[in-house]
Amino acid sequence: MSAGGERVPGTLFVVSTPIGHLGDLSPRAVEVLRSVAAILAEDTRHTRHLTDRFDIPTPLVSYHEHNEAERTPGLVARLHAGESLALVSDAGTPLLSDPGARLVEAVVAAGLPVSPVPGPSALLAALVGAGLPADRFTFFGFLPRKGRDRQEALGSLAALPHVGVVYEAANRVAETLAELAAAGAGERPAVVARELTKQFETFHRGTVASLAASMAAEPPRGEVVLVIGAGAPAPAPDEATLRAHAVRCRAEGMSAREVQRVLMDEMHAPRNLAYRIAHG
Ligand code: SAM
Repeated sequence: MSAGGERVPGTLFVVSTPIGHLGDLSPRAVEVLRSVAAILAEDTRHTRHLTDRFDIPTPLVSYHEHNEAERTPGLVARLHAGESLALVSDAGTPLLSDPGARLVEAVVAAGLPVSPVPGPSALLAALVGAGLPADRFTFFGFLPRKGRDRQEALGSLAALPHVGVVYEAANRVAETLAELAAAGAGERPAVVARELTKQFETFHRGTVASLAASMAAEPPRGEVVLVIGAGAPAPAPDEATLRAHAVRCRAEGMSAREVQRVLMDEMHAPRNLAYRIAHG
């Protein structure tokens, strides 16, 4: 089925799959995955869990960064012959820090149809939950691991006039935030979006510098996305709002120290006021 609902043989579907919550696999994604001749999967064992869960009997073909160059011509030939194929990644939207760009380029160059089946992506889930302006942003994917490339990427992120979104491994988040602070972005508002759509989904809000400290003290677990805002952090809400939030936090079982941290990091309350409310 093409975007217009018409069946076009030889279509490559680029299908988004859940980043945690299986309920996020769309009915259209299921229908397309059932209808194609094969599903091209980054890790066939991983995708097998999804296809088993949704009764999708379609054969899986491995397609990942180490075999994409070799496999692409054969897949284009299958599309040419009229077979439709679906490309998925382990989670989220293919091509976004995941394989597939080479195949989509080759299919477009061959004049064959490509049809996206949009859905979950950690990039957009983090962005829309961050509470920072989302009208313009730059996606950095994973930052280079070291050397001059990393320094350049950190420098351009620190100088960005709008929001920047970065994928990062949980055990490197504190270090990356600290390096970003050292690059001059310490006072920028920032959000660490963790375990999106999963049981322990959390948005840690603060500045780059405050989050660098809190993430170093208590490293996050699971999967994370960093959202770095432009300009100064939002002003703290008035005292009555902060007190009402503190009451809600206590009702959830937080200690005075945790309440103070939430008021400072998430509500941008000054330390003295946060202390007075939390311990009062
Ligand atoms: N293509 C995928 C997408 O569209 O979401 C992203 C693939 S990339 C290899 C994996 C990275 O995405 C993780 O290291 C993390 O930064 C982010 N990520 C994926 N799932 C996530 C989740 N449930 N919560 C937070 N971050 C997630």
